[in-house]
Amino acid sequence: MTNEVAGTILLPCPHCAAEGMLRIGQTAIHGELRWYESLNCSCRCASESDGNGFPPGEMRSRILDEHGEWVVILPTVKSNAETARVLRIYLGLDSRDALQRMKTSHSQGVYSGTRVECEWLANKPTLSSEHPIVQRRAASESAHQGRLTGNGETDHAPVDERRQKLWSALDEFVSTPGAPLDLAGRIEVMLDDLYPYDDYLQETVEMLACYRPEEMEWTIGWGLMRSRLIGVRRHLEASCDEARREANEGESHPPSSAG
Ligand SMILES: [Zn+2]
Repeated sequence: MTNEVAGTILLPCPHCAAEGMLRIGQTAIHGELRWYESLNCSCRCASESDGNGFPPGEMRSRILDEHGEWVVILPTVKSNAETARVLRIYLGLDSRDALQRMKTSHSQGVYSGTRVECEWLANKPTLSSEHPIVQRRAASESAHQGRLTGNGETDHAPVDERRQKLWSALDEFVSTPGAPLDLAGRIEVMLDDLYPYDDYLQETVEMLACYRPEEMEWTIGWGLMRSRLIGVRRHLEASCDEARREANEGESHPPSSAG
């Protein structure tokens, strides 16, 4: 069994500033943390680089800026020693630091970083059996949204807001022949951010990455992309109903775990 987590950010081309041509991101596939940077621009600039482990500093800050800071919380821990051992192995902590983190594992969490890093760590065998919760850090979420909510009631508003934005972006794309690339890029990032575990939507994320308003040999044109996004709207409506039913049955699911 494998777990696949990806997070992509689209940035302007560093040479001609065309929107969305530079893609950076992280993946955690088969338990392996990787980063990549890929430029494929209509100005004929192209480059690729990638590597194992944590991404280079500047790239990592951009991912944190864009997707926020996430945290791995362990509500209850069966074995402090075993869990601390996992932290030592994968985060390179010394014993003291690892045990220190275990003391506040239920409140501050044992690790904070990018969403992909948190998912990667939470899926490590020993840790995943402790039922970890990966969540976005509230303070950084408020900062990211540029405002403070002030009371507990609106905690979930940002997610709803992001979903609203996704819906209007989908509507705009579907009703705009030859929709611009940056719109596709925004939809790609929002889908990836909001639905990291949905195979259908993750496949759509990959399709969006190949979308170009002007059809070329290796690209996906507007017509095909449009019918896929109509499918996405149907899919979201269906999963929305399901989520409502689940919510009525009570809280559920930390991330699915490996092995
Ligand atoms: Zn360019």
